[in-house]
Amino acid sequence: MSGFLVLLAQAVIYFAAMAIIFNFRRVIGIGTFYCVLGAMHFLETYLAAVFFIELPFGLISPGSTVMFAGKLAFFLLLYIKEDAESMRQPIYGLLIGNMLMVVLAMILRAYNDPVSLPGYNPDLRFLDQIGFLMVWGTVLLFVDLIALVIIYERLSELVTNTPAGRIFLSLAIVLSFDQVFFYVGLHLLSGVPISAFYGGWIAKLGAAGFFSIMLALYLRFVEAAAIRASAHGTIDVFDRLTYRHRYEKLVEQIGKDALTGLQDRGRFDAKGPVMLQAAMRSEVSLSLMMIDIDHFKSINDRYGHPQGDKVIRLVADIIMRTKRGADELFRYGGEEFALLCPEAPPGATALAERIRAAVATAPHPGLDRPVTISVGIATFPADARDMRELLMRADASLYEAKALGRNRVRNAAAAGPRP
Ligand code: GH3
Ligand code: MG
Ligand code: MG
Repeated sequence: MSGFLVLLAQAVIYFAAMAIIFNFRRVIGIGTFYCVLGAMHFLETYLAAVFFIELPFGLISPGSTVMFAGKLAFFLLLYIKEDAESMRQPIYGLLIGNMLMVVLAMILRAYNDPVSLPGYNPDLRFLDQIGFLMVWGTVLLFVDLIALVIIYERLSELVTNTPAGRIFLSLAIVLSFDQVFFYVGLHLLSGVPISAFYGGWIAKLGAAGFFSIMLALYLRFVEAAAIRASAHGTIDVFDRLTYRHRYEKLVEQIGKDALTGLQDRGRFDAKGPVMLQAAMRSEVSLSLMMIDIDHFKSINDRYGHPQGDKVIRLVADIIMRTKRGADELFRYGGEEFALLCPEAPPGATALAERIRAAVATAPHPGLDRPVTISVGIATFPADARDMRELLMRADASLYEAKALGRNRVRNAAAAGPRP
């Protein structure tokens, strides 16, 4: 078999096996993929030191072309599909594992008297060499991978829409850098000739081409989600997009209403009692306004639900802009909002009146009549002793506002003292 075919066969088998294991990470766990990466690392370094194939442009090692370039490609895939944290773990693992290996080998070297068996001649000098190469290689890998992510992110500004091109450029730049430094180590240790440098470089660029095409195809057809295209800063490259960030983002989304972006009913249930407690402790008032859009059903019926949604969003925006900093606004239900404000009437009533007027006078493109709201207010401690009672009184006031003709503010205090 020709040398080129051997390398190609290695690259295809390597890519296919790694891609399959990576793809099934949600079933078998990412640890499997990490272990395979770690196991391959040994063979890769061993081959880089001893096994060369002669191609027209120089001596090529399958270890440093196929396996090393492939490893970088899969680290990039880890970053693209998982996050910097998932990528960082095997890098640290490889670095620590290789150092440990060298330390253990050095201890064995100090023992001069291994049992000699016929046919067994331990080549501990070789262990030194490959041990050094492994540490040198993984230190380089560490630098390579940081550079890889930075370059990959930077390139998003230039070649966003061509994943293969972006991956190729990132891999090619990093592999070129690595080739220079790894070759220096290799040459110093085992006197590998300069032809292995150029040959290795060309072969690595070829491998970068092969793996970037394979990776782009994999991302396009196997992992459907789009490649992250945003550009980020450089310094925090290893810290961002970690699970912590995802978790924080998720927490941020919890409790938010999808349509309006306001806090949802769950947040109201959680925050309401806390605000009430705070009001109780500092002996100030807390008013609850229940705000309901008038004849909203007929807006839905006449103009359709999408238009109805628009009206809900617009009313939410108006209330948001009119309320004060300390007031907390929630989407309580369909077209109902709850506003908690740490103030009693007449201040609270005046605020409600401003909100009502702002909604009533706002233009509603696409609607041939104004949108109005009715507001029911109840205040702690004047009208209610606890949250449940506050809600009931505010609801009752809202009902009165509706009954009195809508587009108005009604106060629980106006209905007399609490029963
Ligand atoms: P009233 O003046 O008495 O409040 O009359 P109304 O028509 O507003 O009465 P009601 O509160 O019964 O109607 C609310 C309607 O809001 C019913 C429901 O179909 C609609 N709705 C609830 N949630 C949404 C939503 O998210 N989007 C849209 N478009 N409509 C919603
Ligand atoms: Mg309603
Ligand atoms: Mg309504």
